[in-house]
Amino acid sequence: MASQIIREPMALERKVMDKLFREAQKYIPGGVNSPVRAFKAVGGDPLFIERGMGSKVYDTSGSEFIDYVSSWGPLILGHSHPQVTNQIREALQKGTSFGAPTPGETELARMIVQAVPGIEKVRLVNSGTEAAMSAIRLARGYTGRDKIIKFEGCYHGHADYLLVKAGSGATTFGFPDSAGVPQDFTRNTILIPYNDITATERVVKENHQEIAAIIIEPVAGNMGVVLPGDGFLQKLRDITRKYGIVLVFDEVISGFRISYGGAQQYFGVIPDLTCLGKIIGGGLPVGAYGGKKEIMEYLSPLGPVYQAGTLSGNPIAVAAGIETLKILSQPGIYEKLEQRTTNLVHSLRENGRKLKVDIYINHIGSMFTVFFCPDKVYDYKSAKKSDEKQFAHYFQGMLKKGIYLPCSQFETNFLSLAHSREDIEKTIKTNYETLRTLK
Ligand SMILES: *Cc1c(COP(=O)(O)O)cnc(C)c1O
Repeated sequence: MASQIIREPMALERKVMDKLFREAQKYIPGGVNSPVRAFKAVGGDPLFIERGMGSKVYDTSGSEFIDYVSSWGPLILGHSHPQVTNQIREALQKGTSFGAPTPGETELARMIVQAVPGIEKVRLVNSGTEAAMSAIRLARGYTGRDKIIKFEGCYHGHADYLLVKAGSGATTFGFPDSAGVPQDFTRNTILIPYNDITATERVVKENHQEIAAIIIEPVAGNMGVVLPGDGFLQKLRDITRKYGIVLVFDEVISGFRISYGGAQQYFGVIPDLTCLGKIIGGGLPVGAYGGKKEIMEYLSPLGPVYQAGTLSGNPIAVAAGIETLKILSQPGIYEKLEQRTTNLVHSLRENGRKLKVDIYINHIGSMFTVFFCPDKVYDYKSAKKSDEKQFAHYFQGMLKKGIYLPCSQFETNFLSLAHSREDIEKTIKTNYETLRTLK
């Protein structure tokens, strides 16, 4: 690899990639296996990635990019971390899947239970989507109630009743946010603006006998980064406890990201159930949900709530997850990530100020989003005020100069341990040059 010549991506070699994308579109809807990859929000065609190493990805024309996508969150150690890759290789020698218990599953489960305050028992699945839909089924089975509350702008995977958008007027009942989702399936989902405790309390008081669960991203990452306001999570904890509602933290992004114990450890608010994914698979497909023993034992084969998976607890994915968590459990890791991110964010803000470009940045741990608007972003509506055209120009400008950002305003940039001082300096400099062209 060292012998390979890395060209500056100044003049992006599009020809080969255009051909690859045309070919992909012939066989794959939209040419992508997950819609956000399609660059629809920013225009142009996606890069085709050849390989990743540390903080960098390389496209098929050999251009190098500093990567802030990090596979949309999992790669907190950077690409191809040698220890993780080694463990994957070792696991491979023993076989790929058995459909029977393996010691690694227990080890990963033990590490998760020891790390995450709200998890006493945990079930491994294959994606965050599965984790969230299974947690909701469990909450419904446990409480014997049907309704759930979710917050606008939070994403919990693509289960039918979680793909909801706000209805018109005063109604809080969700409407399908995708074709193919029957209205009937969203009838039991109540949608409330993020950080709106008054609305939550009102809805809970009116419907509490029917509400099984409140599900929330304790740090939202799917409308860009949006932080919970002072006391918001604690108030959710108080009201759910009062009415016997299951509080579900969807920590698929924030778990092992903003601290080793996730957002619940960071904010000191412990939910009944927690969804995990992304980081715990070390870049391979994994999800998990866990929580109070009493609730988790409602699961089959112990209890009446069914949930299953042919490849759940896959030994290769589990090996990658264990090694990733081992590295993350070392002292000082999260402080280092947060320090670097804070430094970067301060400089980006300073660039905006100097150049008089209106940006608003939310950040926590190693997550941040640069919103193109002057005012505070605290929920979906305020996030939506950002100038998406300006973001698209910014995105393209950064890409041309070798910085690979998430291709939507409403996504999160992730730093990894592999992002070096030089990477960050280059990002700050490129940000300055790019913001200057937006004026
Ligand atoms: C990514 C994500 C999911 C879905 O996970 P998949 O593995 O893509 O199914 C669920 N919840 C949150 C908060 C996520 O960020």
